[in-house]
Amino acid sequence: MSTPFWVAGKPVTRAETAVVRHSYDDSEAGTHAVPADADVEEAVAAAHAVRAEAAALPAHVRAGALDHVSRALTERAEEFAALITAESAKPIKWARAEVGRAASTFRWAAEEARRFAGELQRLDTDPGGTGRFALVRRVPRGPVLGITPFNFPLNLVAHKVAPAIAVGAPIVLKPAPATPLTALALGEVLAETGLPAGSWSVLPVGNDAAARLVTDPRLPVVSFTGSVPVGWGIRDAAPRKHVTLELGGNAAVIVAPDWPDLDFAAERIATFAMYQAGQSCISVQRVYAHADVFGELSERVVAKVRALGTGDPRSPRTDVGPLINTAAARRVESWIDEAVAAGARRDTGGGRHGATVAPTVLTHVPEDVSVQADEVFGPVVSVNRVASVDEALRLVNASRFGLQAGVFTRDLPTAFHASATLDVGGVVVGDVPSFRADQMPYGGVKDSGVGREGPAAAMTDLTEERVTVLTGL
Ligand code: NAD
Repeated sequence: MSTPFWVAGKPVTRAETAVVRHSYDDSEAGTHAVPADADVEEAVAAAHAVRAEAAALPAHVRAGALDHVSRALTERAEEFAALITAESAKPIKWARAEVGRAASTFRWAAEEARRFAGELQRLDTDPGGTGRFALVRRVPRGPVLGITPFNFPLNLVAHKVAPAIAVGAPIVLKPAPATPLTALALGEVLAETGLPAGSWSVLPVGNDAAARLVTDPRLPVVSFTGSVPVGWGIRDAAPRKHVTLELGGNAAVIVAPDWPDLDFAAERIATFAMYQAGQSCISVQRVYAHADVFGELSERVVAKVRALGTGDPRSPRTDVGPLINTAAARRVESWIDEAVAAGARRDTGGGRHGATVAPTVLTHVPEDVSVQADEVFGPVVSVNRVASVDEALRLVNASRFGLQAGVFTRDLPTAFHASATLDVGGVVVGDVPSFRADQMPYGGVKDSGVGREGPAAAMTDLTEERVTVLTGL
C-alpha cells in the first residue's frame, strides 16, 4: 500500500503513486500517493480559512502539541532513522543523530511558544507621549509555505513546521521529491496532536506545483531551504511575499598557527567534510591552514579521510555513503577532474562507483575552480596553505557564499577579529563550520540566503509586530 499524503491534517490516498528509491542499490524505499490539483487547492484553502483560529490557540495548546511531537520522535527514533536512511542513503549513524536533533527542535519550539510574548514599550519619553504605553505583540504574517531539500528529510522539515505551530501559523509543507517519506511519517505524529484541521498539510508534489504554490497569495510567507538558484528564483517570483531563504555555501575553516591540537582539527575536518557524503550546506569544503601547520595538518586530514568506511549506509560501520543519485556523483567526479587538470593535487580519493564518490582530499587547489568557488555538495575537501590568518580571512570572504565559517584558534583577539571580519551568518571558534545547535540563529548572507532559522529566530521571522497604544494609564 502506498503512503498517504496529508491534506488539512487528514491522510489522503490517490491512484497516482511515486516510488522513492535508495541510491546505494536502487532498492525501493517506499511508494507514496501523489496529490491531485484539487488536493493542493483544498490544503491551501484550509490553511487560509483556519488562520485566525490557529493564531488564537492558547500557548499551552501549541506547546503541548510540539512537546508531543518531540516525545513521539524520541519513542519512534529507530523507525524514523531507518526511513531517513532508506530514502536519502544517509549513513544510519547520522540518521539517528538527525532524529535526535529533530526531537530537540520541536522541544525548543515548545519552550519558545511558552515565552513568546512581545514587549511593553514606554511612550512618555517625549511630552506628546505622556501617559501612554505601547503594547507590542507579534502576530503571524499568515499561512506559511515550507519547502525543504533532500539532505535532512526530518530536521529541516522540523525547522519549518515547529516554529509555525509555535506562533500559530498554518503551514503547507512541500518536502523534497527524493525524500518525502520521512515528512509523510511525521504527518502521523502531527495528526495525533489534535491541532485544528487546516493547520498543517504535507504535499509531496513536483516542482511545477510547488512553483504555483509560491505565487499563491493565500500563502503570504515562503520559508525555503534548498539550492541557490531555486531559492533566489522563488524570491523573484514572489516579490511581495515574506521570503526566507536557507541556501547553499562552500563553508571554510581557518587553522591558525597557535592551534595546539592538529590531530583534533584534522579529525573534525575529515569527519565533517565527508559526513553525509558532503551533502550538508555547512560541510567543510575549504581549509585555509597557516604555513606553520599546513604540512602536518594536511597529512593528518588525508590519513583520517583514508580511515573512513565507505559503503552501504544501512551498516552502522559506514561513515560515508553514496550521494543522492548517480548524476550528482558524476558532477562531483567531473569537478575533481577539473581541479586536477587545473593543477590541484589529489592526495586521496577521486574514484566513483555508481552514486558513491570516494572521499577526496585535494591540495594546491586554484581558487577559481568549481570545487573551490562553487558548492561541491560531495565528499571533497581542499586543504590550502596561507601565509597569514589575514590572508585566510580574505580568501574566505572572497566567496559569493556566506553561511558559516570555522576558526581553529585559542587566541581571543584572533577569534574576535575573525568573527567581526568574516562575512557569514555564524563563526564557530575552535571547531569546524559544520557545528549547528538547533536552537541558535542559523542562516546566511550573500548568495547563501536571507533570514534566520532556529525556533526563536524563525518565530520572529514568521510574525510581525502589532502595536496597541494604551492611553491614560
Ligand atoms: P533544490 O533547490 O533542488 O530543492 C529544494 C526544494 O525546492 C525541493 O523540495 C524541490 O522540489 C523544490 N523546488 C525545486 N524547484 C522549485 C520551484 N521552481 N519552485 C518551488 N520549489 C521548487 O535543493 P536540494 O538539491 O534538494 O538540496 C540541496 C541544496 O539545499 C544545497 O544547495 C544545500 O546547500 C541546500 N541546503 C541549505 C541548508 C541551509 O539551511 N542553508 C540546509 C540544507 C540544504
